[in-house]
Amino acid sequence: MLDIPQNRPALPAEIARRRTFAIISHPDAGKTTLTEKFLLFGGAIQMAGQVRAKGEARRTRSDFMQMEKDRGISVSASAMSFDYGNFRFNLVDTPGHSDFSEDTYRTLTAVDAAIMVIDGAKGVESQTRKLFEVCRLRDLPILTFCNKMDRESRDVFEIIDEIQENLAIDVTPASWPIGMGRDFIGAYDMLNDRLEIMDRADRNKVAESVQISGLDDPELAKHVPENLLGQLREEIEMARELLPTLDPRAVLEGHMTPIWFGSAINSFGVKELMDGIGRLAPEPQPTSAEPRQIAPEEEKVAGFVFKVQANMDPKHRDRVAFLRLSSGHFERGMKLTHVRSKKPMAISNPVLFLASDRELAEEAWAGDIIGIPNHGQLRIGDTLTEGEILKVTGIPSFAPELLQSARAGDPMKAKHLEKALMQFAEEGAAKVFKPTYGSGFIVGVVGQLQFEVLGSRIEMEYGLPVRFEASQFTSARWVHGSQKAVEAFVNANKQHIAEDNDGDIVYLTRLQWDIDRVVRDYPDITLSATKEMM
Ligand code: GDP
Repeated sequence: MLDIPQNRPALPAEIARRRTFAIISHPDAGKTTLTEKFLLFGGAIQMAGQVRAKGEARRTRSDFMQMEKDRGISVSASAMSFDYGNFRFNLVDTPGHSDFSEDTYRTLTAVDAAIMVIDGAKGVESQTRKLFEVCRLRDLPILTFCNKMDRESRDVFEIIDEIQENLAIDVTPASWPIGMGRDFIGAYDMLNDRLEIMDRADRNKVAESVQISGLDDPELAKHVPENLLGQLREEIEMARELLPTLDPRAVLEGHMTPIWFGSAINSFGVKELMDGIGRLAPEPQPTSAEPRQIAPEEEKVAGFVFKVQANMDPKHRDRVAFLRLSSGHFERGMKLTHVRSKKPMAISNPVLFLASDRELAEEAWAGDIIGIPNHGQLRIGDTLTEGEILKVTGIPSFAPELLQSARAGDPMKAKHLEKALMQFAEEGAAKVFKPTYGSGFIVGVVGQLQFEVLGSRIEMEYGLPVRFEASQFTSARWVHGSQKAVEAFVNANKQHIAEDNDGDIVYLTRLQWDIDRVVRDYPDITLSATKEMM
C-alpha cells in the first residue's frame, strides 16, 4: 500500500491502512477549512460548514468561551476518524491558540505525521515554525499544503525557498500552481503528470482531472490559457532542474517535505493532498516505552493517554481520556491493565469520534485513537497494556511560564476549589502547586488566556467564583536527585518548596539568580523545566 518498503515486518492489513496525523499551522492559515474538506471527501459529513463553528469560535475570547460551553463540538473534534479510499485516516486536532501549545506538544506524540498548512501570501509564520520544531524533535514526517492560492500569493519559488531556509528541510513540489489570485486556474500534478482544473462555481466540487502525457502534450493548451502556458512550462522545467525530486524515504525520515498548492475553501488540491497522505505518510509507527519499544504489529493491545478532557457533560463529572493505541487489535469490553496503579480496567464504553458524532467503538487497531470515559483514574501519560509492565515515554510536561495564586471567591469553598483545580491539573489544563508554607494554591499556565478559560470553567462547571492574583513566584522547576539529597534540599529551602498535583517536589522562585544558586550550591540536585508525565 505504501510506495516504499519500511524496514519493519509487514503489518496486518487493518493496521497498514491507518494514517494518524495532525495539522499544524498558524492561526488563520486554513486548518479548519481543510479539516472540513477532509471530512467531506472522507464521507464523514454531508456538507462543508459543520465544523465551522469551531474555527470561528476561536476568533475572540468570548466566542472561545462559547465554544468551551459547547463542549460537544470541540471534543468530537479532538480526534476524527474517517475512511478515504482504502485508508482509515485518524486526524487529531491540535488547539490553534498559542496559549495551548503544551496540549499541542502532547498531541504530537500521538501521531505519525503532520500536515503543515501555510498561507501562500504569508509563508512560514511564527506558530508554524514553533510547531514544526516540535515535529522535528521526533523526526515526524511532514507534508505541506500551501493554501489560499486563489488569492494574491507569493512567488512559488520564493515560498519553497523560504521553507527550505527557514525550516532547514528539503522541499519537493508535488504540484505546481497555474496562475495565482484571480488568474489561478488549477495545478499541474507533478507526481502523476495530470492537470487539475479548479471549479470556481462550486466550492465543494472536486477538481476536474485531465490526464496528459507530459508538458508537451497538446491537450495542455486546451485547458491552460496561452498567457499561463509558457510560464508553466518554464517554471516546471526550472523546478525539475533546481529542486530535489521526491524521495519517499527522505519524507518518512522527516528530511524532505512534499508541497501541494491549493485552495481549501475551493476544495482545490485537497484530494491530491489526501492521496499524498495515503501514499507518503507512514503506517502506525512503534511507540517508545520502558523497558522496551512497543511495535504496532504485536498481538497484545497497548496504548497511552495523551489527552484528558473533563466535564464533557457538566451533569456527570465524567472525563474522557484519549488513548492512542500503540499495538494490537482492541475489542470493546477488554480488560486492560492500568500500569501506573497496576489495576485492571474493563474498557466497556470506548468511543470513536466520527466527525461530529461519538460512537461506541466495537473495535480499534494500532494507530487509532479511542476515547475512554472514566472518573479520573486515567491521567495524561498513563499506559494501558494486557498485563505487561510497560511505560510509554516522551510525553512532556512543561514548566509553566506564568504563575498566579488562586483564591476562592467564597472562603468557605476553598476545599471545593482545590478539587476543581486538581481536576483541571489532571486534564493538563494547568499546573497546580501547593506550597509548603502558607495556604492556597499557585496555578501555573503557559499562556495568559488559560487563566481566563480556567476561571470561566471553574465558575461554569463547579459554580465557584475564583480570583487569580499575582503570586510572589514567577518560575517553577522540578527537583530531582536521590531521596537524601532532595530531603536535605527541601529542608534548607522550605519557603521555596511546593508539591505539584502529582505530589512531585517543585522549587518556586522569582529570580534566575536563585536557580543559578541552587545549581552552584547543590551539585546533587538537578532542576528541570520539563518533566515526563508519570
Ligand atoms: P484556521 O484558523 O487555520 O483554522 O483557518 P480557517 O480555516 O478558519 O480559515 C481562516 C480564514 O481563511 C477563513 O475566513 C477562511 O474562509 C479563509 N480561507 C480558508 N481557506 C481559504 C482559501 O483557500 N482561499 C481563501 N481566499 N480563503 C480561505
